Amino acid sequence: MVAAHPDDPDFGVAGTVARLSRDGHVVHYLMLTSGDAGSEDPTIPPDELVRVREAEQEAAARILGLSGVTFLRYADGELQPTLELRKAIVRVMRTIQADVILCQDPRSLVDEDNTYLNHPDHRAAGQAALDAAFPAAGNPSAFRDLLAEGLKAHKVKEVWLYFTAGQHVNHWVDITETIDQKIEALAAHASQIGEWAASGELRREMLKWAEDTATRHTLDFKYAEGFQRIVLASEQERTPEAAAIEAQAEE
Ligand SMILES: [Zn+2]
Repeated sequence: MVAAHPDDPDFGVAGTVARLSRDGHVVHYLMLTSGDAGSEDPTIPPDELVRVREAEQEAAARILGLSGVTFLRYADGELQPTLELRKAIVRVMRTIQADVILCQDPRSLVDEDNTYLNHPDHRAAGQAALDAAFPAAGNPSAFRDLLAEGLKAHKVKEVWLYFTAGQHVNHWVDITETIDQKIEALAAHASQIGEWAASGELRREMLKWAEDTATRHTLDFKYAEGFQRIVLASEQERTPEAAAIEAQAEE
């Protein structure tokens, strides 16, 4: 999972990653910034925000049962989808041999209610993650100096876009059993949403969001997270699950 800021993934994918972890998959978070612009108080030093927000993200990851979190510490608010960032992401993808990448949808500019402009870091993070996933992570001729670091090319099999517009969503994960973990993980980001969590409002909104996702698509479970799931693997490597997704999309 690649994200711009601490707490982004816990809004977008926490129920899903908790479930994947529970099912025995190894899930790792890669944070591109550490959220050093995430305060209305400019007298708090960036270093202090980094310390607090990384600790909060680590705590959330423990609640979700993840294998760990890597922080690249790019400047919050200044993220650009550069070749340098792409390479840094490829390095992590190859190191952990990531098969499935979850990342923010770089196409999202405005939400469907026209009440929210997507953060430019989210778009940059999504673009850089997609460009790292394909073709660079799996191409031995891309970033050849990584080979000298012992990082062989590794082909990513699937990409799941989150914070994606409804018309693109083609895959839903049942998070009914993990939504409490999601809410608890979000509450770990006390510097950002402490009051919201304490008032109970966070819980109500997260339950409503996940329930709306499930009812809008008449799913047969109560709470869902939705993704645009893209299968990159070749025909021979394709899992039965991925083939089913494709068949569903063709209908
Ligand atoms: Zn964010």
